[in-house]
Amino acid sequence: MSDIPKDHPRYVSLMTREKIVEGVELGITSQQGLVAQGRGECFDYLTGEQTTDSALIAEKVGVAMLLLAERPVLSVNGNAAALVPDSLVKLSEVTGVPLEVNLFHRSEERVNRIINHLKDHGALEVLGSKADARLALQHSRAIVDSEGIYNADVVLVPLEDGDRCQALVGMGKSVITIDLNPLSRTSRTANVTIVDNVVRAMDNMIDLSYGMKELDEAELRKLVEEYDNSRTLSDAVRQMIRKLEELSDT
Ligand code: ATP
Repeated sequence: MSDIPKDHPRYVSLMTREKIVEGVELGITSQQGLVAQGRGECFDYLTGEQTTDSALIAEKVGVAMLLLAERPVLSVNGNAAALVPDSLVKLSEVTGVPLEVNLFHRSEERVNRIINHLKDHGALEVLGSKADARLALQHSRAIVDSEGIYNADVVLVPLEDGDRCQALVGMGKSVITIDLNPLSRTSRTANVTIVDNVVRAMDNMIDLSYGMKELDEAELRKLVEEYDNSRTLSDAVRQMIRKLEELSDT
């Protein structure tokens, strides 16, 4: 990794970029993943590179849904594996939700590399290599595990593609996504959209999980029932407008 001084004003953002580049070099992230990261960075700039109040509410509701679910799954793609391997393993451990590797640009080799990468970061078991079921989609992201995403009732899909999000919702699953772009098809289709950087969102969700595991079912259900995703999306867009107005006044 490049030697970025810790006092650089964009240290966190630059380190995140380095991790994605390293993911490509390790063969776990696709080259297209670099483009996706760039788009995310642009939206992160517009949110002030911090977790907003409404993103934190969505993170809380996402955790509640994972804890309430009967067959939840954390879906992992090449970008998430490169950026937050430790956090994925930790969130899986704290909530008891299994991990499944699911790739748009799929090859058996890359799936296995990501599984091994997550195991190097402490995962005991990772689904995704069995690939014995399909979602109603043309591309290779349709390939899933029958014991994982295919039968899941709730799926957390960080950095998702719109078609696949639509297919999962169409199968009656509840989808929680993490996507910095509140305008993407994924953001607009998911049941819960966390408009935050996956790096911050995962850490927040781990912290929340410890306390929320102790809540009773009725309290968790109340959080989910009172949640309004369209409000989250409009809050995110308004936050970006405010930021742009602020900048245009200086
Ligand atoms: P859609 O098909 O949903 O309209 P898209 O074609 O833009 O969206 P992809 O390129 O497949 O989607 O997915 C990348 C999405 O993930 C983008 O919306 C991007 O803003 C978001 N993204 C990229 N990096 C991050 C990150 N580090 N944290 C959160 N979101 C991110």
